[in-house]
Amino acid sequence: MVNAPVYMDYHATTPVDSRVLDTMLPFFTEYFGNAASVQHRFGWIAKESVEIARKKIAHAVNAQSREIIFTGSATESNNLAIKGAAEAYRSKGNHIITTQIEHQCVLESCRMLERNGFNVTYLPVDRSGMVNINSLTEAVTKQTILISVMMANNEIGTIQPVATIGKLCKERGIIFHTDATQAVGKLPVDVEEMGTHLLSMTSHKIYGPKGVGALYVRSRNPRIAVEPQMHGAGHEHGIRSGTLNVAGIVGFGKAMQLAIEEMEKENGRIFSLRNRLQKRLESISGTTVNGHRIERLPNNLSVTFHGAHADQIMTAMSDVAVSAGSACTSEEIGDIQYSHVLQAIGLNAEAGRSTIRFGLGRFTSEAEVDFAAERIETVVAQIRERTAVGIS
Ligand SMILES: *Cc1c(COP(=O)(O)O)cnc(C)c1O
Repeated sequence: MVNAPVYMDYHATTPVDSRVLDTMLPFFTEYFGNAASVQHRFGWIAKESVEIARKKIAHAVNAQSREIIFTGSATESNNLAIKGAAEAYRSKGNHIITTQIEHQCVLESCRMLERNGFNVTYLPVDRSGMVNINSLTEAVTKQTILISVMMANNEIGTIQPVATIGKLCKERGIIFHTDATQAVGKLPVDVEEMGTHLLSMTSHKIYGPKGVGALYVRSRNPRIAVEPQMHGAGHEHGIRSGTLNVAGIVGFGKAMQLAIEEMEKENGRIFSLRNRLQKRLESISGTTVNGHRIERLPNNLSVTFHGAHADQIMTAMSDVAVSAGSACTSEEIGDIQYSHVLQAIGLNAEAGRSTIRFGLGRFTSEAEVDFAAERIETVVAQIRERTAVGIS
């Protein structure tokens, strides 16, 4: 038995783990101090708790505490990384390379820079969503100051060869930013091994609260500068002013700690549930699985159901919460617009409109997977039959 509706949209957000919530609660009422209030005990406790969380997050990505800047979201981290580095290194060049499958916040930050005199190359990807290293190398010019390539994609789960890109950047003295929002807590993330200079993450995708993110900014070999995008009283080394969200940060730290501690065990379980679901759905005729077969997030499953539109499926299957394309673009599906990621991997509009993203997570059970598979089987068959006889 399952409790409907079943949640299978873990790429969009995750519930707060009760262990995280327990850690956070005293910081709303008892330890409510401002982490910048250095003159009294309330401030000290807040500051110390923030620093403990910072250390946990730094440790999780093999960074130093002082290299972690707290922000309000991965959207903010990506804006700060891209606009901040572009501004700081403008005298060195005006060319940026990214990919066509980045999150909107990366793409829109790049478009903003284009309006301000930068040139941006949006690299295509192959059918599996992989960036081609030769094309990336060829795109580099003397003007290139920044390469931003996400670690794992939020729609199709494809994992990029970030260490190779890091090496390329190091050899050429280019700054390497990666949006690791979907990767942290699910894949090993090591800023040294990957050669990253800037790395974005967010709390609400790893069972922490919404409204807290972080940006890793390399402090040595080489030291990376980012121009602040939020000016004020000089919090976070002056890079991101604004009173720290202490409870949120404490929750983020705890969530990260749990994700790292439980990654191996949890990944094994989620991976086999994903494969169980994939096998069931692949046995429906006229389906294709999107993304890379192997280099893919263990909890991701993007499937195209040819002859059944995602909005029809989701309307008929209201007891399973999934997503069409990505949460941020789904309003546009139904018009001619469909996910830019699905477009980039070569899906035509019809296939793009017929694609569903399943995201599994910590609280997904085998019974839920079987329930979702059964619902999909039924609903897709019904829609195809209706369409075949020319009703709807
Ligand atoms: C969710 C997500 C973001 C945005 O994170 P927020 O904290 O919600 O702003 C950015 N990049 C990727 C890959 C994501 O999955």
